[in-house]
Amino acid sequence: MRSLRGSGVGRGAVVGPVARAHPSPAVPADAADPDREGAVRAADEAFAAVADALERRAEASSGTVATVLEATAAMARDTELAGQVRIRIEAGQATALAVDRAVAEFVDLFTQAGGYLAERVTDLLSVRDRVVARLTGQPEPGVPALDRPSVVVADDLSPADTAALELDKVLAIVIERGGPTGHTAIIAGQLGIPCIVRVVGASTLVDGQEVAVDAAAGTVIVDPDDATRAAVAARQAALAALSEHTGPGATADGHAVALLANIGTAEDAEQLTGAAVEGVGLFRTEVLYLGRTTAPIEDEQAQAYARALRALEGRKVVIRTLDAGADKPLAFISRGGEENPALGVRGFRLVRTDEGLLRSQLTAIARAAAETGGEPWVMAPMVATVEEAAQFAGIARELGLRRVGVMVEVPSAALRAPDLLAEVDFISIGTNDLAQYTMATDRLLGELVDLLDPWQPAVLDLVAAAAAAGVAAGKPVGVCGESAADPVMALVLTGMGVSSLSMSPAAVPGVRFALARHTLAACQELAVAARRARTGPDARAACLEGVDAEVREVLALG
Ligand code: PEP
Ligand code: MG
Repeated sequence: MRSLRGSGVGRGAVVGPVARAHPSPAVPADAADPDREGAVRAADEAFAAVADALERRAEASSGTVATVLEATAAMARDTELAGQVRIRIEAGQATALAVDRAVAEFVDLFTQAGGYLAERVTDLLSVRDRVVARLTGQPEPGVPALDRPSVVVADDLSPADTAALELDKVLAIVIERGGPTGHTAIIAGQLGIPCIVRVVGASTLVDGQEVAVDAAAGTVIVDPDDATRAAVAARQAALAALSEHTGPGATADGHAVALLANIGTAEDAEQLTGAAVEGVGLFRTEVLYLGRTTAPIEDEQAQAYARALRALEGRKVVIRTLDAGADKPLAFISRGGEENPALGVRGFRLVRTDEGLLRSQLTAIARAAAETGGEPWVMAPMVATVEEAAQFAGIARELGLRRVGVMVEVPSAALRAPDLLAEVDFISIGTNDLAQYTMATDRLLGELVDLLDPWQPAVLDLVAAAAAAGVAAGKPVGVCGESAADPVMALVLTGMGVSSLSMSPAAVPGVRFALARHTLAACQELAVAARRARTGPDARAACLEGVDAEVREVLALG
């Protein structure tokens, strides 16, 4: 059997036929249209029609998916892009070519800007393909209508393509490009669809060919044999059985570890209504405003938070104040000109230039709390010093919020966690950024993914220091970075003293199962084993040896 490898998202496995996405339309080498005005109008109409279609899809979806679709539609409505197309047509370029060239220029700019903007390149190319297809009468690029449950295979999928998938017919997603932090991976994770990104050789798969996709192993096996099919069926049955367990997270000997969800919108919160999570450990509020060019007014914010609090009535909800900058730029908080935005005025540091923005957000949260009778926890991102923790706590408490915390994402905050905890009620460790800043490695750079491994000994040391500070202070310590979704890491974190784990909802059953099969003492032993290792891979391997055999097998921990 031929096997392809990539980076898996989730722990699911499926067998099914390949359905290839339509490739990008060819850009014809037509001569320019002599009717320049007519050509400009045709281009404008094509952009508008694409934007309309994307907006219609956004309306039919919800949560993060809808937000991402709206952001792509906004790109199709970008007047600067339309302006560049017009200039090219007026200068004598053929219409489709003008669209192609103008987008190519933007792609260069976005790629050079790096970070979040570079990740949006796929959206930009998707807008180009749709507009060119429309202008030249070629089939709409993207996933075809599926006549049976299929494994969607593509070079890359734009968020619009991913969001437009007929979910009941999509067994899995396999893409050749993209990255673990790209939109496709995030949306697939949110929807609980097994997904493998960066699959070398995915383009060799053909329509109708049977493949076994294993997200836990990161493999795509072509023409699977009976044994592979049986293994996939066994994993599916085991994972389905896990989802039936719904109790609060706890170790085998009853030590409680709250299992929480990461969300980006109020709709995401509403979708958790029946889910077996104990609440929300990270509400990334900047997601609400990604496509916006003006700051949201307080009323609008209060409504969004009230919706989330109502949906999760009685459950814990941790709302993070805007984490704008670097990989999550917001148009209305533009900080152009910084050489190193990840090290610049971002996250809580924006208080230096615009305290009003923070105050209006915290006031909106306090209003939502009063209106719903809920008691949200609030926390600030990117806090580096005790003074910043004290400043945030001071403002939040002044505005009537009672559960106030900070994220630990910067090594300085982890090292001085005892001092930070003297100022706030809880801390939440963001391992995505903590790894980025500890290892001096851009978190979006797929090429250096080994350095970003949360199992890196230095990252584990800092997480352990923060967790120990929480235990000593008798205050909650959560982890809300992606590492909390790895069942083996979840055991290590519990052993270090972490009291809650927040992740995409689909990851919760696996983590709940792993916890229930290990005592607190076993978790503590795993934490010791992890800390003793000299390298990241050694740390995970050492822990895997100590993990219950059934947990290893059911969750395919490798
Ligand atoms: C983190 O940095 O780990 C985190 C949870 O925050 P974000 O991924 O939103 O930066
Ligand atoms: Mg972060």
